[in-house]
Amino acid sequence: MNLVLLGPPGGGKGTQAKRLQEKYGLVQLSTGDMLRAAVASGSEVGRRAKAVMDAGQLVSDEIVIAIIDERLDQPDLAKGAIFDGFPRTVAQAEALDAMMERKGKKLDFAIEIRVPDAYIVERITGRFTCGKCGAGYHDTFQQPKIAGTCDSCGSSEFVRRPDDNVETVTKRLEAYHAQTAPLLPYYDKRGALKLVDGTMDIAEVTRALEAVVDSAG
Ligand code: ADP
Ligand code: ADP
Ligand code: ZN
Repeated sequence: MNLVLLGPPGGGKGTQAKRLQEKYGLVQLSTGDMLRAAVASGSEVGRRAKAVMDAGQLVSDEIVIAIIDERLDQPDLAKGAIFDGFPRTVAQAEALDAMMERKGKKLDFAIEIRVPDAYIVERITGRFTCGKCGAGYHDTFQQPKIAGTCDSCGSSEFVRRPDDNVETVTKRLEAYHAQTAPLLPYYDKRGALKLVDGTMDIAEVTRALEAVVDSAG
């Protein structure tokens, strides 16, 4: 089973990908996480990506396609992948189709987690993650059970992304509507697109996504 999660920045893709990963043994492939790792490592790719990410724009297709191409060859993807934040342009979607075909894999569904723009500033500015294990939280919607302590690993070290600010959110939403929204008709035309209401609470969105996955039989 290979899934693409589509939706705006802050729409809940990463939160849900982690939950599906646990339930179905699929592997979350987040190009955002991979790019942040490249930035942290100080590599050439990381240096090129950092300014673009901080400005809320999209990193070049060439860079992200190369990252995914390499990742798809690793042996842990036997049960399948959940693409989170990739593809983000039609060129990336076409490249993914070609890569999957070449590697003998099939894309089962592209699922749109639909969240109107009006929700997004609050989602993004309240986001933080555990600095040790990467578990995701929100100031209002997903607080740790014990304040200041990660539910998953007990760490008290939390991080916020430098691009999760009000100014950059607007740019990222513009990029989503201009460059990523065309993927909805792209997948719909081949009958692969499913829609889930991303304004429900986190557990309800998970249930709706599981219903889609389970429908594949
Ligand atoms: P994305 O990966 O699409 O950018 P995230 O999964 O990181 O989005 O979610 C953005 C923020 O919103 C996080 O802080 C997360 O805890 C919170 N969040 C995710 N899904 C929901 C939801 N259904 N309702 C309320 N808050 C949510
Ligand atoms: P969010 O889901 O909150 O938008 P991501 O972690 O998916 O955040 O992405 C963060 C940033 O990384 C994006 O704003 C963009 O600059 C870059 N990025 C991530 N994935 C891609 C991609 N597939 N194509 C181009 N840029 C990407
Ligand atoms: Zn943790």
